Amino acid sequence: MGPLYCTADKRVYINLDFMGRLLRQLGAPGHFAAAYIVAHEVGHHVQHELGVLEKAEGLKRRVDQRTANELQVRVELQADCLAGLWAKRAHDARRILEAGDIDEGFRAAAAVGDDTLQRKSQGHVQPETFTHGSFE
Ligand SMILES: [Zn+2]
Repeated sequence: MGPLYCTADKRVYINLDFMGRLLRQLGAPGHFAAAYIVAHEVGHHVQHELGVLEKAEGLKRRVDQRTANELQVRVELQADCLAGLWAKRAHDARRILEAGDIDEGFRAAAAVGDDTLQRKSQGHVQPETFTHGSFE
């Protein structure tokens, strides 16, 4: 299982085997990909604190599955945006980014996108079932 944020206990869970495999697969020795993934999950915590996740869940219960999936994609993109804000602020404060780090973050986002995970698990892509968006 990939990384996740749990609203019940407000914790981020990272499967270290998954993370290790992902970083090796990305050829990402600089650890920015890992930081990006953690920041995305913390972004879900921010969404929870702001009530965004609960509002989205309420809306998703009242619409068809395809629309619910599209809403979830928007939630995921906002978490990506929050991760980007974190990276910008952290870099401004402590110059954490090195050459290639932003590309590494994009590769991490693509690697955990639904299109990549579906292609790997079932050999083809079903965009109507996406809940995390695609890299395209
Ligand atoms: Zn997410």
